Amino acid sequence: MKGEMEVTNAGWNFDNSYAKLPESFYSKIEPNPVRDPKLILFNEKLAESLGLDKEALQKEEGVAVFAGNETPEGALPLAQAYAGHQFGNFTMLGDGRAMMIGEQITPNGKRFDIQLKGSGRTPYSRGGDGRAALGPMLREYIISEAMHALGIRTTRSLAVVTTGEPVYRETALQGAILTRVAASHIRVGTFQYVAGKGDDVDELKELADYTIKRHYPYIKGEGGDRYLTLLKEVIKKQAELIAKWQLVGFIHGVMNTDNMTLSGETIDYGPCAFMDTFNMATVFSSIDTQGRYAYQNQPAIGAWNLARFAETLLPLLHDEQKEAIKIAEKEIGHFADFYYAHWLDGMRKKLGLYNEEKEDEKLFEDLLKLMQENEADYTNTFLSLTFDKEFEGTEELLKSAQFDEWKKRWNERLERQEKSKEDAHQLMKNNNPAVIPRNHRVEDALKAAVEQGDYSVMEKLLDALSNPYAHTKEQEAYCTLPEKVTPYVTYCGT
Ligand code: AMP
Ligand code: MG
Repeated sequence: MKGEMEVTNAGWNFDNSYAKLPESFYSKIEPNPVRDPKLILFNEKLAESLGLDKEALQKEEGVAVFAGNETPEGALPLAQAYAGHQFGNFTMLGDGRAMMIGEQITPNGKRFDIQLKGSGRTPYSRGGDGRAALGPMLREYIISEAMHALGIRTTRSLAVVTTGEPVYRETALQGAILTRVAASHIRVGTFQYVAGKGDDVDELKELADYTIKRHYPYIKGEGGDRYLTLLKEVIKKQAELIAKWQLVGFIHGVMNTDNMTLSGETIDYGPCAFMDTFNMATVFSSIDTQGRYAYQNQPAIGAWNLARFAETLLPLLHDEQKEAIKIAEKEIGHFADFYYAHWLDGMRKKLGLYNEEKEDEKLFEDLLKLMQENEADYTNTFLSLTFDKEFEGTEELLKSAQFDEWKKRWNERLERQEKSKEDAHQLMKNNNPAVIPRNHRVEDALKAAVEQGDYSVMEKLLDALSNPYAHTKEQEAYCTLPEKVTPYVTYCGT
């Protein structure tokens, strides 16, 4: 324990396996205390599942931990080293504004990284101040928790504290720290960093073995097969993850290799957003002027990132580089099939289909085409189909004669399956969210919170998002679209 305050254990149960890896993988750091920490958001349910004492953590001593002012017993603060391709360019990065305080072992033996984001400068901060502003940290909290509730693998958010100190961007903003919980923070960029350090294959092997032990413990054996299986498993996990993003209309916004995890969790909620009007070319990020990370490009970028991962593994796959490349290329080639299989499976569920037919693919593609042509709202189109009534943003689509024809085909398809109409309706309800974190709703919540200190709008939004497949009366209000549609822009480096 450091600092002056007496800290009760509060359920913290740290182990620090990452710190046992080679020293070049991270830097041990000293926490940077902040002036006046205040707890803004706290995730009681997540705290409980981590085996933490939710009362103690909301008291001054708990808040001091979330602020980096106190270090609980057993914690070992460190910043991880990593590299990454950012918009295609290779760069050395590392945790420039995050501090891992330890790995929490939960009552049922699971291991999670506990990381403070916005906790101050580290050896990897480059020119940055190591800090974060309140708005973007609240935004990460809302969207990551919404993703979790949608059934999509993601890092979670345990708490947000304000620091009582300003951060300077274009103007002075309130500083804040987000406590992020992740299966791990091992990224494709972590492998790129270790592989790029030189020809120390032992270190690379150590990282790969560590990753296997932590995320794919069922991988046994030695030699090339072991690491080939790791590659296969990561490809499968990412294919499933990205298919799930596409199915809910989520655009990550910065699919750099440092923002792709080996665990298969979504990480780093910067300029991400959910699409309202369906358009394959949708981009939200202010800096993505080329549309590299547009909705339609996400699967291909996923494969590109995984190819960068595969490159790092080459020395472990085969002694002959040529052979290793062949093996890796073959696996990367499977990504598209895995992705498409997950996407088709998800679309079947969204449209109430229990079995597979060859023509399904065409049925789905035709629907998307009509949605795009008629500028239909993505989420509300599926709600309209689920409940057979008009939801906002679907008026033009539902009026179109081509859509009538499509609907006839879909109805015939539903009738050809053995399941009843009621079964189909249930499946659709369970797979088409009543509520997503719509941009205008998120902005309203952030505005009230940041400008007025009014957290009630956000609390209500979080509540509606926490059970997206419930389809309650209260959730109906969250299907409405903004009065004036202005292009939504999100920002990096906040
Ligand atoms: P991100 O866009 O959040 O993925 O961040 C990209 C890189 O920039 C990571 O290495 C971050 O740690 C670093 N970074 C982002 N913001 C800051 C900041 N305010 N101070 C220092 N490093 C930062
Ligand atoms: Mg990042």
